Amino acid sequence: MATTAFATSEPLDPSELEAASVRYPRPSALRAALSFEGAKMRRAAETLGLATVEDLLLHLPRDRREARAVAELVPGDSATVVVQVRSISSRSVRRRGMRPLVEATVADDSGAMKATFFNQPWLAQRYPVGTRLALHGKFEGRRGSGVGGQFRVQAHARTGDAVGGAGAGAGAGAVAHYPATEGLSSTQILALVNEHRARFADVVDPLPAGLLHRERLPGRAAALTEAHFGGGSDAGLELAHRRLAFDELLLVQLTLLRRRLRRRAASPAPVMAGERELTARWLGEMLPFALTGDQSNALDAVDLDLARSVPMQRLLMGEVGSGKTVVALYALLRAVEHGHQGALMAPTETLAEQHFATIQKLMPGSVVPFGLLTGSTPARRRADLLGKLASGELPLIVGTHALIEDTVRFARLAVAVVDEQHRFGVRQRAALDAKAAGDSGDGRPHVLHMTATPIPRTLALAGYGDLDHTQLHELPAGRRPIKTFVCSSGEERARAYDRIREELRAGRQAFVVCPLVEESEVLQARAATAEFERLRSGELRDFEVVLVHGQLRPAAKQAAMAEFASGAADVLVATSVIEVGIDVPNATVMLVEDADRYGISQLHQLRGRIGRGSYDSICLLFGSKDSLRLRALAEYTDGFRLAEIDLELRGEGELVGTRQHGLAQFRVAELPRDAELLERARRYAEQVVAADPSLAEPEHALLADALVGAYGAEALAPIRA
Ligand code: ADP
Ligand code: MG
Repeated sequence: MATTAFATSEPLDPSELEAASVRYPRPSALRAALSFEGAKMRRAAETLGLATVEDLLLHLPRDRREARAVAELVPGDSATVVVQVRSISSRSVRRRGMRPLVEATVADDSGAMKATFFNQPWLAQRYPVGTRLALHGKFEGRRGSGVGGQFRVQAHARTGDAVGGAGAGAGAGAVAHYPATEGLSSTQILALVNEHRARFADVVDPLPAGLLHRERLPGRAAALTEAHFGGGSDAGLELAHRRLAFDELLLVQLTLLRRRLRRRAASPAPVMAGERELTARWLGEMLPFALTGDQSNALDAVDLDLARSVPMQRLLMGEVGSGKTVVALYALLRAVEHGHQGALMAPTETLAEQHFATIQKLMPGSVVPFGLLTGSTPARRRADLLGKLASGELPLIVGTHALIEDTVRFARLAVAVVDEQHRFGVRQRAALDAKAAGDSGDGRPHVLHMTATPIPRTLALAGYGDLDHTQLHELPAGRRPIKTFVCSSGEERARAYDRIREELRAGRQAFVVCPLVEESEVLQARAATAEFERLRSGELRDFEVVLVHGQLRPAAKQAAMAEFASGAADVLVATSVIEVGIDVPNATVMLVEDADRYGISQLHQLRGRIGRGSYDSICLLFGSKDSLRLRALAEYTDGFRLAEIDLELRGEGELVGTRQHGLAQFRVAELPRDAELLERARRYAEQVVAADPSLAEPEHALLADALVGAYGAEALAPIRA
């Protein structure tokens, strides 16, 4: 293959190649600390995660704005210009309602115009005459005579000499825009990158040339150089992005696959391949309904997992109400019929109690004794439970974090189910794992992780690539469809209450969910209390209304929940605490106030609280009809589809679920945009790990270095401990 210029098929002139100096990368130079002038800038750099030269090189421009000539601007244009301040003054504002305004005359070689800055009166001091500025904003036309037009500034930065065609091939006025923060502007970052330009030569390429050729990817140093200094050709930037994103995705996948291998090589779990008497009797005689197809498939998958000594690590993703508890109970009963123990851990007491109740319903007649252990279990009861778990007398336990406290010992824990698994930390899950070790210190439980938030495939692969996956799509038979309406006007609100009263008079029940106040649980509780008072003396005064919020004592919360669950109360006014867990088939209305404040997945979860019985249900979302999120909710009921829409609307960085799920945050890669690249990275990672799990071969040495560079030395921890 001929040597070509970046992102082109133009061969390079051989004489040019000969003249180029030979490079000896010194990767250690990349780990040198950056120095900053002043504490303010240092703090800003810390906020941006810029500590070393390498951090700086990986801090890529968000975009590149072509600077335009002032004389060429046309009214209505959004543009970036590089200009010099000719005069500047702060307009004194006396009249009320007028915003403080700074007006400057600015000019480049082509002409001058008036620039206006709103609400920043201090700029007149900060940008004295003669300052060179990069301005981004809107050109509003050439009113009057004299200075040629008005420019409304949206973003501005002092530019010094650093701005502009920083590298060969860059457009004359291309201005790279970096993610910046107060104290360290985009322009200052560009100046820093320029200062460390020579360090690009120290970037090592961890990928073998053959792979780059096959995947048509450029070298890493070239990609980084292009990303910072390239002329902004779309093809060049795209190629640079692909290369850098590939590296990032590859390292994550290598880590996940190696973690999975390590688990497999760790102490074995009990093999449970026979003994079907209990589960057969349960499925055949006790379970009050037939399994859905998806549930059957999940049971099969669990069966195969449990029959092996490799500890099960399966993620069960299930649509709200899809019946995950049945699958969980099956796994637990498999343990019991083999003489082992099973434990189900939930993140909150409410959820644990809910599971306890569901299991009672799913397995009538207490065929298998099981207990409930939470933070509020009384001391005597707790001591009794702990004794029976340690002796093995109690085969099944449901609980909260209380299950992983040091004092809890199991005789033979073989299956652990973790509900809403993303709400537990790594350490908590590890603690549960360790419970199976027993006195010998050996052995692992089979673990079934459950989540009610459907995760699009790409994100699941990115975040949970170390687990096996099972999805429950179908809802159990007999479910009635839910109609969802977005209500905006006062008239629609009035009609909504009419509908609710109609349902209540027919004997049904309703949820009213109050606005999310993320900053303060206290404020949220207060708002819910106010709404409760308003409804029970107003629109819903003829009905029994109860209130639940996070500030109530557990006993009061329980009492209200119990009243609603038994049907004694018609309406439950609540904060988002009811998001998961409550199961009241008689409830047919879900009203959400200020629904725009909730994310798609949260609204979907809330909606999952209704439509659980044999009646038609309605979901009333109060909010703007323009909201794409609310419209998506009105249109779709499939949680996996909604999760994809959420991902498209928000990007993975801001996806509500992402943080909760502990999914990796990427610097360069973007999902779903890079989904296909992720699949490629996954395939390559599988090849590498299959051939050389420890990355010990010479051809993987640089990849091993990159892994350690990204995640620290433990990233290369040996597979076999
Ligand atoms: P989730 O996946 O949200 O945890 P659950 O396991 O709590 O769902 O099940 C929701 C409800 O559906 C429960 O009342 C449960 O008894 C019922 N259910 C589960 N599976 C079936 C089925 N195959 N047919 C009918 N009802 C079912
Ligand atoms: Mg559940």
